[in-house]
Amino acid sequence: MSASPLEPVRFVDLAAQQARIRARVDAAVARVLDHGQYVMGPEVTELEKQLSSHCGATHTVACSSGTDALAMVLMARNVRPGDAIFCPAFTFVATAEVVAWLGAHIWFVDVDAETFNIDPASLDTAIASARQAGQQPVGVIPVDLFGVPADYDAVSKIAGREGLWVLGDAAQSYGARYHNRRVGTLAMATATSFFPAKPLGAYGDGGAVFTDDGELAETLRSILFHGKGTSQYDNVRIGMTGRIDTMQAAILIEKLAIFDEEIAARNRIAARYSAQLGGHVATPVVPEGLQSVWAQYTLKLPEGPDRAAIQASMSEQGVPSAVYYAKPLHRQDAYSHHGVAGGELPVTDMLSERVLSLPMHPYLDESTQDRVTEALISAL
Ligand SMILES: *Cc1c(COP(=O)(O)O)cnc(C)c1O
Repeated sequence: MSASPLEPVRFVDLAAQQARIRARVDAAVARVLDHGQYVMGPEVTELEKQLSSHCGATHTVACSSGTDALAMVLMARNVRPGDAIFCPAFTFVATAEVVAWLGAHIWFVDVDAETFNIDPASLDTAIASARQAGQQPVGVIPVDLFGVPADYDAVSKIAGREGLWVLGDAAQSYGARYHNRRVGTLAMATATSFFPAKPLGAYGDGGAVFTDDGELAETLRSILFHGKGTSQYDNVRIGMTGRIDTMQAAILIEKLAIFDEEIAARNRIAARYSAQLGGHVATPVVPEGLQSVWAQYTLKLPEGPDRAAIQASMSEQGVPSAVYYAKPLHRQDAYSHHGVAGGELPVTDMLSERVLSLPMHPYLDESTQDRVTEALISAL
């Protein structure tokens, strides 16, 4: 369906996807209503099995959200006050929030100006500073921002040398490829989100942890059910309510069936954006050998033009845009007392002033996309 010139463009079009799969979703929801196992029903196990075979991880533990997926891994690794954990400042707050839950020190690390992902040199700096401060570095959380996998080779090398675990925040990147592997197999554990607007989204909250470590997977299954041992009335550790709803699992099974096709569409659309916009802005960079899932199509505006004015002009033409992230985490009040690699994060600050995200979803047709690029170019 193409938007008429007067109809506003949608930033993410979940309705178009729903129209495509509605009958299958209705049937899947009806099956759950019929069997009545709303929590830990058979669809949860089936989804986990399908995700494992889709991404190549040995174990998939489905759970309540991306945030809880991250938190449960930290709980399983016994993160405690005095520990230091490293993550980029240019990310959604949940990446750092879970570290704060457990009372550990956060060190905000700068990112690469091209990929927007964690900068290994800045990570080195932060680890040294944490040790100097008498803290115990235990882990690093690279984020696959906007759908592009982080530089896991470089991060793993540093982590190996320093004795740290790596937890991938793949909330935006499930389905992406890193050389011959898929996201979910690139770290000790990988957390993803099924929030509706993520590339693989449910119709509510959900998430998952992927790991090849069977013991970690068992611990996570205990944590997500109140620290259960032989049953939920046998409590062997502190846990939480971290389960995914059966209904969401049933919906996700239907969405996963069309996901690879949607990833291909997202890549086609991103390539077309970049072809049209290349002469005007700095288009997003996907390193050689990697494939993004385009959670966002995020470009860098040239230095100079006023971003808010550009957005306002696009908006007048019915074209939405968004800024992820205008206020990086080291500048947020709730996080301002945590560590900052090297004392300042110049690339993060530069990006927070210059990035702009355009409408991106697998059902963006060419004429609507032309409206987006024309609106941006005329605004510039
Ligand atoms: C969305 C997101 C999360 C949190 O996922 P929820 O399912 O919303 O809890 C964590 N990290 C990043 C980078 C995200 O984009």
